[in-house]
Amino acid sequence: TEVDFVEMFDHVLDRFEMSKRENIEIVRQLPRVAIYTKVDQDKMTQVLDNIISNAIKYSPEGGTITARCWTIGKKIRISISDQGVGIPKNNLSKIFDRFYRVDKARSRELGGTGLGLAIAKEMIHAHHGDIWAESKWGQGTTIYFTLPYKRIREVGDK
Ligand code: ATP
Ligand code: MG
Repeated sequence: TEVDFVEMFDHVLDRFEMSKRENIEIVRQLPRVAIYTKVDQDKMTQVLDNIISNAIKYSPEGGTITARCWTIGKKIRISISDQGVGIPKNNLSKIFDRFYRVDKARSRELGGTGLGLAIAKEMIHAHHGDIWAESKWGQGTTIYFTLPYKRIREVGDK
């Protein structure tokens, strides 16, 4: 079945908007079109949950999280940026490994098992997409992923 990724993303963000800490802002930059993808909706929801919950977990007080979505060629590209502690350059590729955590002490305090991004990577690859991270230590992190899409529908069209 085809899923409008933009609508699904918007719904996931609505849910985080209600449960997040008050002093964190979530900014959405989503296109006003429907972008249909052939994805398992439950799995994609989990991918988004894992990435957004990290962004919130590692955000400072008063931080802004920016959620973007656009198309490049035949692929939809999603990014989720935060203004958190960031990830040192030489650890960037490892965060998608099972049980890998950058700062063991800090991660233990924050909870979790170190599986969130490994699961996200598995699911994105199973859907023929890519996932990667960009980060500046002390400034913030952006997680990107891509997915093939089937078609775009302009708002107002059928
Ligand atoms: P779990 O997701 O199982 O609850 P986790 O969040 O520690 O635990 P992952 O989501 O796989 O595990 O992330 C792996 C590690 O990558 C984290 O422990 C953290 O060190 C680092 N990391 C992930 N996202 C961010 C982020 N937005 N900012 C800073 N560090 C991050
Ligand atoms: Mg996580």
